[in-house]
Amino acid sequence: MPMIGGTEGIMEKSKTNLKDMSLKELEGYMKSTGEKTFRAKQVFQWMYRGVSGFDEMTDLSKPMRDKLEQEATISCLSLDTVQKSEDGTRKYLFRTRDGNHIESVFMKYKYGNSICVSSQAGCAMGCKFCASGVDGLARDLTAGEIADQVIQAENETGEKISHIVVMGTGEPFNNYDALIKFIDMMHAEEGLGIGLRNITVSTCGIIPVMEKFTEEYPQVNLAISLHAPNDRIRKEIMPVAESFGMDELLTACREHVKKTGRRVTFEYALIRGLNDSDRNISELAGRLRGMICHVNLIPLNSVKESGLRGSTRKRAMDIAEYLDGRGIPCTVRRELGSDIDAACGQLRLSRETEINDENH
Ligand code: SAH
Repeated sequence: MPMIGGTEGIMEKSKTNLKDMSLKELEGYMKSTGEKTFRAKQVFQWMYRGVSGFDEMTDLSKPMRDKLEQEATISCLSLDTVQKSEDGTRKYLFRTRDGNHIESVFMKYKYGNSICVSSQAGCAMGCKFCASGVDGLARDLTAGEIADQVIQAENETGEKISHIVVMGTGEPFNNYDALIKFIDMMHAEEGLGIGLRNITVSTCGIIPVMEKFTEEYPQVNLAISLHAPNDRIRKEIMPVAESFGMDELLTACREHVKKTGRRVTFEYALIRGLNDSDRNISELAGRLRGMICHVNLIPLNSVKESGLRGSTRKRAMDIAEYLDGRGIPCTVRRELGSDIDAACGQLRLSRETEINDENH
């Protein structure tokens, strides 16, 4: 049975984690330890360049590096596994300091490199088709833990990441403070300098938080996990639909488009015999009529726990053609990394299962 933590882990815990700090907070920390505030900028820049320890921060004096080493840490995640696909996709499994596993996916596109990050360890939303929710929510991730997924992927690939999607495990709008802090860190010039328009947040539809986000971050792209043409079907597969109805959700989306002038993306996982009939799709087209939006069709990745099966790729292409014909722009998600555990939460789930098996 693997030991979680170890003495080193316990000692580390009492140290201040600088990666969880915004530049402003880091300035406050430096000041509180008697250092000049400009030191914060130096440390901040080093962290985002991916150094793993204070020793590598060569423009700080040796005594200062030693002092930081004693009082603080910049380590959030350790890399557990990397799966590499032939198409350049890489899937990372990371371990948090308290032994949770989280995953991220690095993808290569024509327009640049993109990463899909997790916002929580596990997920409380319980969508029937999703591997992430099988074991429920372990805990929220901190902003530093979300950021470290990006920093470590840049380090491991040696490549710059230009786009971020918060579409991994977890519901980002249930971890709002960490989410926006993470976005600020990624956007900061001294951080990774990623444009807000290159960041996308995906939600299952926590409407009040979504409305707040529209107000506060109008430039960030919004993706909605819709997956159904009506509340009846949505409730069958997404418990969140019991709290937030589709009418209200689509009204909030129209409001988002009006306020930001930017389109909304709807994700629609095609599930054989459940939401992919001609009638279902025609109803969907009716609901979205006139909205500036884009539909991303995803043939469901089968997760064995759910018993649900994906529609065929041919069916997905036919549906895309139909929606396009009704004036609704549509794509069928490219199957990146299909030779590695591609579906959300699959890698983490298989690792957690292994660990549980080891423990029992
Ligand atoms: N909680 C957020 C973000 C995480 S899920 C949300 O719901 O949007 C990221 C996307 O993957 C969502 O659209 C989700 O519905 C989808 N997804 C989850 N499991 C899937 C599966 N087995 N096949 C296809 N898409 C899946």
